[in-house]
Amino acid sequence: MSMIEPSSSESTGAAGEPVIRVRGLRKHYGAKVAVDGIHLSVDAGEIVGLLGPNGAGKTTTILMLLGLTEATSGSIEVCGFDPMHNPLEVKRTVAYLPDSVGFYDQLSARENLRYIGRLAGIASNELEARMDEALERVRLSAVARNRVGTFSRGMQQRLGIAEVLIKRARVAILDEPTNGLDPQSTYELLEMIRTLKSDGIAVLLSSHILDRVQAVCDRVALFHQGRIELEGSVESLAAQVLGASHGVHVQSSADAPVAQCLTEIAGVKSVVTDGPGLFRVLAESDVRDLIARTLVARDLPVLRLDRIEPSLDEIYRRHFAGAQHEQA
Ligand code: ATP
Repeated sequence: MSMIEPSSSESTGAAGEPVIRVRGLRKHYGAKVAVDGIHLSVDAGEIVGLLGPNGAGKTTTILMLLGLTEATSGSIEVCGFDPMHNPLEVKRTVAYLPDSVGFYDQLSARENLRYIGRLAGIASNELEARMDEALERVRLSAVARNRVGTFSRGMQQRLGIAEVLIKRARVAILDEPTNGLDPQSTYELLEMIRTLKSDGIAVLLSSHILDRVQAVCDRVALFHQGRIELEGSVESLAAQVLGASHGVHVQSSADAPVAQCLTEIAGVKSVVTDGPGLFRVLAESDVRDLIARTLVARDLPVLRLDRIEPSLDEIYRRHFAGAQHEQA
């Protein structure tokens, strides 16, 4: 058995146990409080976004999870291990992809992965099989013998996902993985990150690009001044921050009368006009039926009625507008 194979229920976390468990975590740099008593649990197969403005404490939290900086107080368990006391066990179960993944430019994709796999103690035959499978999954098989220095940034990030797969990591920590990628490469990488769920890998994804976080994350944790101020699914955050968890796009050939009618429907919290006859409605519940019935009853034409997710961007902006207001 290779060294990185999870060897017991202790290393994988017992069924239903979170693979990451952070309790009352604090980090002080002198008088500066970088992380101020956070709690966070992440289950196997969950993708959790770490959001927040610069200096909010995300990187410091990641460094503590990796055992690269010591907590001032509180506790961390990653797959049952304390990163400061069991750094090797944590290294074996966690894959960390920083903003810019550091592969050797002069080596091919296969040589880079082989090097990483050997460092992780994976036996040779097993390693070659895992590399074949991983390179196939990240669609780099055809270029696996090319030097990584010739790869685009998108290909290098995909090679980073291959590293997660060959290590059979239980946790992947991705720091701004889509930075500098074009839309197509971004889409492909997000799809690959999503597939990690089916391997039971817990993913922490730190990013400032909110629509990408929303596209891939099950939950988000919003950091501010060293604390997690909001945490949950986008729907639950929308309910907390916007007072409305359901969104509907309405299209009609009529304009002003529809806008007026929508604001009068029970449960509707806001109506935003996106263009002529185009409205974005936020409501406390799924009001599509009610909208359809009300518009038809008033003889107003309905061309489209689509459910939309409330936007994380709007939640973020509204939360911080509120926080600034409170501090003012
Ligand atoms: P960003 O989005 O810019 O990466 P972040 O949320 O990751 O920000 P951190 O890098 O964790 O934030 O920083 C949290 C706070 O701790 C900041 O005020 C930062 O200046 C401070 N800090 C971080 N590292 C150190 C250090 N080594 N010494 C002193 N202060 C530090």
